[in-house]
Amino acid sequence: MSPNGDGSAADVKPDLGKLLVELQRYGVQVEDIGARTGGAGPSDAGMMWIEGIPVTFPFGAEFVATSPFILREEESGWQLYRDGQRLAAATVPPRPKCYELTTADGIPYWKIALLHLDSLASTVIQTCVYWGNEDQCHFCGIELSLEAGRTIPVKRPWQLAEVSKAAKELDGAVDVTLTTGTNNAPDKGALYLAKCAKAIKESSGLPVQGQFEPPDDLSVFEQVKEMGVDSVGMHVESFDPEVFARVAPGKAKRGIEAYFTAWEKAVEVFGEGQVSTYVILGMGEDPKLTADGCRRAIDMGVYPFVVPIRPIPGSILQDLLPPPPDYVESMYRQVVPYLKQSGFDSSSVKAGCARCNACSGMGAFEREESNGSSRRNLPILQVS
Ligand code: SF4
Repeated sequence: MSPNGDGSAADVKPDLGKLLVELQRYGVQVEDIGARTGGAGPSDAGMMWIEGIPVTFPFGAEFVATSPFILREEESGWQLYRDGQRLAAATVPPRPKCYELTTADGIPYWKIALLHLDSLASTVIQTCVYWGNEDQCHFCGIELSLEAGRTIPVKRPWQLAEVSKAAKELDGAVDVTLTTGTNNAPDKGALYLAKCAKAIKESSGLPVQGQFEPPDDLSVFEQVKEMGVDSVGMHVESFDPEVFARVAPGKAKRGIEAYFTAWEKAVEVFGEGQVSTYVILGMGEDPKLTADGCRRAIDMGVYPFVVPIRPIPGSILQDLLPPPPDYVESMYRQVVPYLKQSGFDSSSVKAGCARCNACSGMGAFEREESNGSSRRNLPILQVS
């Protein structure tokens, strides 16, 4: 039944950007579609495309049990319902073919890297100096999947080379996202990650994003680029200093300004739009500080990848709920037009989270902005 009770379709026609924001707030009830719990990437995430737009969403957390959204596999394929009303057809990726393979030393490929829609992702060092002590990031689950035996502590460059080639050839992977736990070395793990990128490039030719904490010596960026990394992510997580200090105490010791300094140097090396930062919403941040920080980053050529928090079961923030959709949308509407005016957006990013954009709604709002004020609506497939 439509909200106005007359069965008309017009009042239930969902706006695509709004729908993505709501999916990421409430999650989707669905049977197992190949997601993983724990880890540093989009863990506890279901993944699908709606109208060609990639989206990841919570599906394993307790709050998802009350979500109005249900994904059902029917004869005609996967369908997305809200309160019993079919909204759209969805494309759910099949289990990647490369997951059936094992490395020469007997490790299943899925323990080396995971395919997030069309992006292969791996945490090259699955341990972090902050884990298990007072410096641990509250939103992070990096060692949970390791403790559960779903991955291995260190991925070797040759292993990643094998997996990336197979993911490209068998499953159509278009890029590789490499992240790493932090270590105490001056490069913060960036050089080992770059060694992995080099092997991947030589094997598959896929573009690579490297994610790490800002190194102590910023001249390391030149080496990282020469070794094959195309884009980098150095994640400030929140532009609100109080929140940054509370939720990422280890990283925050260097202060937010250290991130701006590192980004400035990285943009010189990798180019405008090839440097990004996660900006997580829903941890108590000041909206104005958040929007101002995003605009300052954009002015420097940095892509602020704004995402609602997806609390990972087992992480310190596991009981938090994702933030209200209206708040998330209001942030996108402050950041995305500014980004578009700056001359770069997610389509300019060569590799990584900002290129894929499935964990954010920014891509949908970028499209809306590109199309002027005309919002992109989903077709109504059926009104029950
Ligand atoms: S720095 Fe923080 S987010 Fe990154 S791996 Fe370590 S604990 Fe997790």
